[in-house]
Amino acid sequence: MSDAAAVLDREDSRGAEARAELAARTQRSREVAEKSSDLLALEVVPTFEMPHPIYIERAEGARLTDVDGNDYIDLTMGFGPHVLGHRPKAIEDAMHDQLAKGWHVGLHNPLQAELAALLREASNCGDQAIFCNSGTEATMYGMRIARAFTGKDRVALFDGNYHGAHDYALVKADGDSPRAKPGAKLLGRGVPEVIKDDTMVMLPYHDAAAYDIIRAHADDLALVMVQPVQNTVPRIDNAKFLQGLAEVCRETGVLLLLDEVVTGFRLGYGGGQALYGITPDLATYGKALGGGMPIGALTGRAEIMAAFGKGWGAPDGVFSGGTFSGNPITMAAGIAMLSYLKEHRDEVYPHLDEQSERLASAVNGFCQEHQMGVQLMNAGSIFYLHFQREPIETSRDVTRENPQAEREFYLHLLNHGVIVPGIHLFFLSAAHTAADVDAIIEAFMQSFLDVRADGLL
Ligand code: PMP
Repeated sequence: MSDAAAVLDREDSRGAEARAELAARTQRSREVAEKSSDLLALEVVPTFEMPHPIYIERAEGARLTDVDGNDYIDLTMGFGPHVLGHRPKAIEDAMHDQLAKGWHVGLHNPLQAELAALLREASNCGDQAIFCNSGTEATMYGMRIARAFTGKDRVALFDGNYHGAHDYALVKADGDSPRAKPGAKLLGRGVPEVIKDDTMVMLPYHDAAAYDIIRAHADDLALVMVQPVQNTVPRIDNAKFLQGLAEVCRETGVLLLLDEVVTGFRLGYGGGQALYGITPDLATYGKALGGGMPIGALTGRAEIMAAFGKGWGAPDGVFSGGTFSGNPITMAAGIAMLSYLKEHRDEVYPHLDEQSERLASAVNGFCQEHQMGVQLMNAGSIFYLHFQREPIETSRDVTRENPQAEREFYLHLLNHGVIVPGIHLFFLSAAHTAADVDAIIEAFMQSFLDVRADGLL
């Protein structure tokens, strides 16, 4: 047994105390977990830090309440959608109004064009949109329309980017392959080998070597898909790289899709396109666009998007479908969200940015002062905490060198009343006040000290 493991085994370790405290006040959650384990193949998000997951009953503003009645400050923010916090009144009212009119699906409703008009205003490539129910579907449609439009089959994806759970997106870079010329690996079993061998090209992120690979593959590449900010390595200084990428795509005739599922309406009202001054051919949205309801959207130049309207029966038509796509409750929530953000953007985004910088600099300052091998990366209100000393430029630099400290940290954080989800990507919202951020900073510092007291940091 390692020294660290021996410490955790002791009943008087901080980790053991935190586990005992959490277990004592989450009895209802434990009962639900016992019932669920037989019925669900997987918790929605694996909660590594607890002997059992905690189950949430209520959400309001920046706070969650679990089934045992414990309150937490939430940093999950639904993995990103809740830019305004939980249950904002404008969205709740809009959904109530629509509920009274029914939640019919399958036929048109006038709200779809209303949301598309708001999206067109916010996006640099929002001529036309299609709605679906998730970011996963949006990127799937983006690949399909690009293949149809260009008559080419391959799609280029970046090392460390995430685009959803469909087969064509489930590839990652092979860690043993050269950094500047990454090879691909499938993400999990069940994805056909043909995906990595014949349908895609892997590119290095934040690296001009990507431009040469695109040039070399120009004849068989339909699309380059890219995140303006990576989830696990959120850094804001991507303008030069993305502008160079847009230029190379223009030069080679390969379409560019900016995946704004996370960054849309979060980095600012105009997302990554406005922040970095990019006009892609296509963009995908999800998360914040639906005001918390399930949504995805693909927008793009009318010339490209037109093929959806022709229907799959036409020689140049492209298929799209979805029973719940464009449903009126989601559309109403999305319209309320975007209308609110549009009207209040001069308050919402400066507040988010100011509080986010405060959180990042307080946590990083504390870790430096106490010589802890931890760094909090952020791009605006998108955060990822890395337990390592070496600087991180791209996801290739992530070493996860101290997983034990990491696991214990999130346990203590939960015990101090702050929730970060199991995927460890987290967000601030406009509902987090300066006082909430002070409380979060305090909980982070206390949790680092708890981990250090057990000799793990
Ligand atoms: N694209 C990006 C950039 C994402 O981060 C995600 C999910 N986090 C997706 C697409 C997939 O979205 P969804 O989970 O709604 O399917």
